[in-house]
Amino acid sequence: MSKIDIDNLSFSYSDRRNKVEALIDINLHVEEGECICLLGPSGCGKSTLLSILMGINRDFSGSILMDGKQLDGPGRNRAVVFQHYSLFPWLTARKNVIFGIKQSGKKYTKQESIKKADEYLAQVGLRGSENKYPSQLSGGMQQRVAIARALALEADILLMDEPFGAIDPKLRAELQELVSGLSKGHNKTVIFVTHDMDEAILIADRIVVMEPKRIRDIVDVNIKRPRKKDAIVRTDEYQYLSRKIISLFYDRVADEIGNEEVVI
Ligand code: ADP
Ligand code: MG
Repeated sequence: MSKIDIDNLSFSYSDRRNKVEALIDINLHVEEGECICLLGPSGCGKSTLLSILMGINRDFSGSILMDGKQLDGPGRNRAVVFQHYSLFPWLTARKNVIFGIKQSGKKYTKQESIKKADEYLAQVGLRGSENKYPSQLSGGMQQRVAIARALALEADILLMDEPFGAIDPKLRAELQELVSGLSKGHNKTVIFVTHDMDEAILIADRIVVMEPKRIRDIVDVNIKRPRKKDAIVRTDEYQYLSRKIISLFYDRVADEIGNEEVVI
């Protein structure tokens, strides 16, 4: 038994007229404390898979077990971070995090909640910004608050859907390094969706390379942590992985249109 066991998962969106097959025969086993990146082009089904794991899309076939129990709707064992930081604009950073602490269902006194919230904010590098409102924070800082709030839920599974898509490259690298430390430092099991190969290599223990509707291959990332973006791009392992992942995408295109027509 793994932390998350996905077997023969298929899912279609359907309304009265149309049926869109979004995922076909997905098999994935995620170990406790592992960080998995789902990497693939737009429309291949990454968000669909994440929404199923959140418990939002329930009409799937196949089996999903979390800690050996059948997935049954949303639950406190999972916290979610989306691309667009969904902070409450009328609450300070601290109060946004306290909201997460309350959601966790744990009973803390007011003083304990404040102390905990400030600790989570410090972990994401936001000491000193506790009393600021979202509008007073940059996009990157707001996303840090969203991560602190997700940590405050004390869920052991963290689901992240392109959380840094709207953040400028410098801050993005900092947040990537932060997430890269989460699964190990906090023993969180992380599933992180991205279409950015470098981001996946920086963050993941394993990269699930997706093609439309399916898993193409699963690639191990054997780069020791902590990982720094500038340093890893110069390693042989990075060169090997990026070549391998690009060839997986290239092979699929070649399969589709015929090898002789592909020129690179
Ligand atoms: P990704 O996150 O990899 O970009 P998605 O999971 O959002 O991909 O989408 C996978 C497929 O499912 C796409 O073909 C998309 O058009 C379709 N899809 C996504 N959401 C819906 C929906 N609510 N209704 C119908 N089709 C959808
Ligand atoms: Mg998506």
